[in-house]
Amino acid sequence: MEKSGNYPKRYRYTEKETDRIIEILEIIEEYRKTNEVDEIIDCINNELLYSAGEINFVTRCKRQTCPLCRENKKFKSFLKLKKKINEQNGIRYILITFNGREISDLSKLSKEVGENNEIVAKIIRKRSIQAIMLGYIKIVEISYNKYTGKLLPHIHLLLGVREDFKKHWIRKKEIEKLEKTWKKWKGEEIKNAIDVKIVKDTENDIDTVLKYITIVGKKRIMKLDDMEIRAFFEMINDRKRLFTASGIFK
Ligand SMILES: [Zn+2]
Repeated sequence: MEKSGNYPKRYRYTEKETDRIIEILEIIEEYRKTNEVDEIIDCINNELLYSAGEINFVTRCKRQTCPLCRENKKFKSFLKLKKKINEQNGIRYILITFNGREISDLSKLSKEVGENNEIVAKIIRKRSIQAIMLGYIKIVEISYNKYTGKLLPHIHLLLGVREDFKKHWIRKKEIEKLEKTWKKWKGEEIKNAIDVKIVKDTENDIDTVLKYITIVGKKRIMKLDDMEIRAFFEMINDRKRLFTASGIFK
């Protein structure tokens, strides 16, 4: 019987693209310390064989950390969150982005991400947040600036808050306090340290925010830069969680 639905479309990589993927596989090989990395290598190898028509089906590893499966997985998280949000009534959302230090040395990435995580965890425990919060989604992202060659680890925190949060949370004052706290705990001046958006209470705006935090553009694996690939695998080796959901988002 023919199975349908689960197989990805066969994409025929050009010779140049195939060569790039083989280069990427070589980078990933350097991180071969965990089973997870082995599964990702198999997944990418299968993709190449499938593209070349040498095998007739592919088994995907479906890991969020796999450069190939990542986009699919992110789209699924988006749909899941959207469903959760549609089940809620009388809830508002605040999106806070925390920017860490820019990193040019990969060996410092893990420490920086760890520090960002710890500080955000402390911020979530603060009374001003606990008073209004019903749940949160935390997404760790590492963006890459190819002009400066630096990585920017940052965190998106989407807070689900009480409808009447404005009674307890005065925008300007709270944002100033948050920024001061983040910089104090980071121990330095950071440009554009935080960004706070109160999401408008319309389906459209909530959708835009969810897409923004769950999908980082449709990058095909061969378009990723070496540094971006290395950044992902540093995170895997360090068993860093990239996605956390709590409270109403669970
Ligand atoms: Zn995969």
